[in-house]
Amino acid sequence: MNANNILGQSSLISKMERILAGGRIVHAYLFTGPAGIGKKTMSNLLAQALICNEPGDKPCNRCSTCRQFLSGNHPDVIWIRRPEDKTGIIVDQIRSMQAIIKVKPYQAGKRICFIENAHLMTEQAQNALLKTLEEPPSYTVFFLLSDNTSTLLPTIVSRCQVFRVGSLSRETIKDILNQRLGISFEEAGTYAALSQGNPGKAISLAGDEVFRSCREKLINSLSQAGSLKILDIYGLFDENKEHIDELLDILEAWFRDLLIYRETKDASLVVNLDKMPQIVRQSSNFTSWELKKMLENVAFSRKVLKSNCNYQLTIENMLLSF
Ligand SMILES: [Zn+2]
Repeated sequence: MNANNILGQSSLISKMERILAGGRIVHAYLFTGPAGIGKKTMSNLLAQALICNEPGDKPCNRCSTCRQFLSGNHPDVIWIRRPEDKTGIIVDQIRSMQAIIKVKPYQAGKRICFIENAHLMTEQAQNALLKTLEEPPSYTVFFLLSDNTSTLLPTIVSRCQVFRVGSLSRETIKDILNQRLGISFEEAGTYAALSQGNPGKAISLAGDEVFRSCREKLINSLSQAGSLKILDIYGLFDENKEHIDELLDILEAWFRDLLIYRETKDASLVVNLDKMPQIVRQSSNFTSWELKKMLENVAFSRKVLKSNCNYQLTIENMLLSF
């Protein structure tokens, strides 16, 4: 299999290679894993390899089939997505697909049907799809992508071969960020650590100017010598209510770094690698007990905010506890 432009995911790629080599293609694959983990990338790789016309390492990325697939214009590839004005994938979309797949593929020997966010299918849509999965046309292969399989009918899941797309190592994510966004390995290391192995999250954090500037301001305020600049920090939280999760992520990573460095003096365990001088300085200003308490307070505030409690009061209480 030609997976040269994909970093990481070697065990999943080996599985796919065995499938291709053995010719044991089933009619439906379900790719699961959190948003941003690479379900689309990995399912596209297998689908493209299935319909590539060239002999040898597939997909070749050069034949007309590959080129049409990569440009999103292959006539035998169908994408089903949630319409913008709907909350789910509706049964009419499944029925349209069923009408299309009655006709044999135009070019490729196979017809490929992707269902993005398959868990968003209404129950009616899932029941309609189930009928096709029970008796699929011989040339059709389905690729269901989902980050929440709990809302999929068990009868649908059981008709699919499931691929769990797992998280990537920090090193791999650093390489991806460096190659794709051209950011330094040191800074990439920070986003790689914050993303917890999720390349999509790392790319979106690193490319998010608001996040980057919030992180700079927040860490600057937190690492001021002497007392924390509570008012500055409160202002930041007030202006960025829609980014509260990310702000709490930054706080959590910061206090965890101080605690880990205080206890181990091992810089390789630190997330905010580009802020080492501040971490070294600050880690001795607190006791481990104080840092653990701060981490608990951040976690508690995150939980409280999810239950729609008063934003201002919750943030003030958290900051005062620092
Ligand atoms: Zn090809």
